[in-house]
Amino acid sequence: MIFDAHCDVLMKLWLNRSLSFYDSKKLHVTLQSLILTKSKVQCFAIYIPEHVPEEVRFTAALEMIDLFFEKIIARFPNMKFVQTKADIDALSEHEIGAMLTLEGCEAVGKNLVKLKTLLRLGVVSVGLTWNWANSVADGAWEERGAGLTHFGKEVVRQLNEMKRWTDVSHLSERAFWDVIEIAQFPIASHSNAHFLCGHPRNLRDEQIQALIKKDGVIGITFVPYFLTEKPKQAILTDVLRHLEHICSIGGARHVGFGSDFDGAEETTVGLENARCYENLINELQKRYSETEVERFLFRNFYERLPQ
Ligand SMILES: [Zn+2]
Repeated sequence: MIFDAHCDVLMKLWLNRSLSFYDSKKLHVTLQSLILTKSKVQCFAIYIPEHVPEEVRFTAALEMIDLFFEKIIARFPNMKFVQTKADIDALSEHEIGAMLTLEGCEAVGKNLVKLKTLLRLGVVSVGLTWNWANSVADGAWEERGAGLTHFGKEVVRQLNEMKRWTDVSHLSERAFWDVIEIAQFPIASHSNAHFLCGHPRNLRDEQIQALIKKDGVIGITFVPYFLTEKPKQAILTDVLRHLEHICSIGGARHVGFGSDFDGAEETTVGLENARCYENLINELQKRYSETEVERFLFRNFYERLPQ
């Protein structure tokens, strides 16, 4: 069973309405690949591309949610919309859970009603920023590196109140520490260890340990830039190095995977698309016990679902 905390299929379906989720060669994650790898839960991020003008971003988010229900849930009877642990428990053997997440509050602007609306439509996890600054906080590439804004703190409190994950992936370091102070359910859906790859998107050991202390989870991502400082040569073993490092600093029960499939064109050798989870599972089984493998692939994320 696999719980993958991040992919960008919805953005691709939104940009190109002719793609079929069933088996399109242009997608890393398809229904066929999820069936083949016995995936149990796939998170689908709502990510609004940078070129979309501010005033239509919320509409774009609603359109992605519409595509999620029309082209994924309604079309394929074995894809089930899930939001809670109970929803996942209720899945039959051949059913796959599909979760909605938000990557960056750009779609919400400075409007809490828009955020609450997305949460009521079923978004279970909210990434506060993408790489730049927005009304909530600064992203990892914003030179200013500021923390949460007053509105950003309201956003996190809203997520606490409605029992949703606050996703720290893409945040500036300062905003990360602000979130750690107030978020009840922090996770990092797709981030790696800064110790092994010094990219601003990755988390330093102190940050990983702070997430562990708050009972959060870190989803290791397969994007080459975040795995190694020589991204052209990223291979599956790099994912295992990040996993081992996070385990070595106390994260064995707090680490999972957030592939970021369909989020970047560049891929890692051996992990080119969701089918390749098979390769990862084979390598994990050589190195870890059955219980550990199950935790990394599924249970660590599943158990931290706040509702
Ligand atoms: Zn991302």
